[in-house]
Amino acid sequence: MQPASLARGLRRVAIERGVRLFERSPMRRLERTRPPLVRTDSGSVRAERVVLALNAWVAALPELRRSLVVVTSDVIATPPIPERLRDIDWPDGVGISDSRLMVNYWRSTHDGRIVFGRGAGGLAYGARIGTRYDGPTPRAGWVLDSFHRLYPSLGDVTAESSWRGPIDRSKVGLPFFGPLGGHDSILVGAGYSGNGVGPSYLGGRILASLTLGLDDQWAASGLVRRPGGLPPEPARYLGGRGVRAAVARKELTEDAGREPRRLDLFLAGLAPAALVPLKQR
Ligand SMILES: Cc1cc2nc3c(=O)[nH]c(=O)nc-3n(C[C@H](O)[C@H](O)[C@H](O)COP(=O)(O)OP(=O)(O)OC[C@H]3O[C@@H](n4cnc5c(N)ncnc54)[C@H](O)[C@@H]3O)c2cc1C
Repeated sequence: MQPASLARGLRRVAIERGVRLFERSPMRRLERTRPPLVRTDSGSVRAERVVLALNAWVAALPELRRSLVVVTSDVIATPPIPERLRDIDWPDGVGISDSRLMVNYWRSTHDGRIVFGRGAGGLAYGARIGTRYDGPTPRAGWVLDSFHRLYPSLGDVTAESSWRGPIDRSKVGLPFFGPLGGHDSILVGAGYSGNGVGPSYLGGRILASLTLGLDDQWAASGLVRRPGGLPPEPARYLGGRGVRAAVARKELTEDAGREPRRLDLFLAGLAPAALVPLKQR
């Protein structure tokens, strides 16, 4: 399923089940009162429990500013090449991804394009997002290089369009769920670290159980945890850039079939890919 149709499908099912949706009404302020109050431009909502599922945008809250690094995920789409895909027996619509930190992920579309993305291309100072993630990515060439390296037979295929978005990288690369700071009536789930499409379903179950105060397998999940702290700025940004550069060197060296330097392995170990344990050498 295409991401846009997943979002539309979720919307349809939620409405069918009686959920009231208020789109284009961003939360502007969250008052940590009991019960909490959410303020928007045109009104406010007071609720017994508030659940924050804001992805990387949640890093703007002071309680989480030190728990997340905001990085980009950059994507390109090729022109339609259905005959070329048929020639190489490309599996229709299957999502594929590797398990590295600067993850490569790709799939084909209904009209025979390849959509290919790559994670951790850039870091946001102070986890600020603003409008810098809107529009085409300046790293389209970097993503295209990866695509061509993995599919040399499609080395002449170009990018027709590109885009990017923010990723909520947690300290260990795994998501976390629980109360926001010391506020039991405000629950938060974040830190999917670029792998949230499937895990956010699990996150929804966990947040539902926590919200309802249930004592079940979801509420008892090991992912209900404190997020862990990262260094303050500017150390987080500068350190993050250093680690990112080491990961890039390590992955390039591995791609060339050589052993990475010990220092790069050590630095890369500070940002585990989370999907697989870092190989011990
Ligand atoms: C380019 C890109 C490619 C990705 N590719 C993959 C992939 O291939 N596989 C994968 O597993 N994951 C991928 N991810 C990550 C995945 O999209 C996320 O981990 C997942 O969507 C997280 O789900 P969520 O419900 O927490 O957040 P989202 O689905 O992002 O939903 C959060 C919502 O909160 C809204 N919001 C933000 N601030 C406010 C506010 N103040 N008030 C009200 N609403 C607000 C946002 O507009 C958004 O609609 C990708 C991410 C990007 C950016």
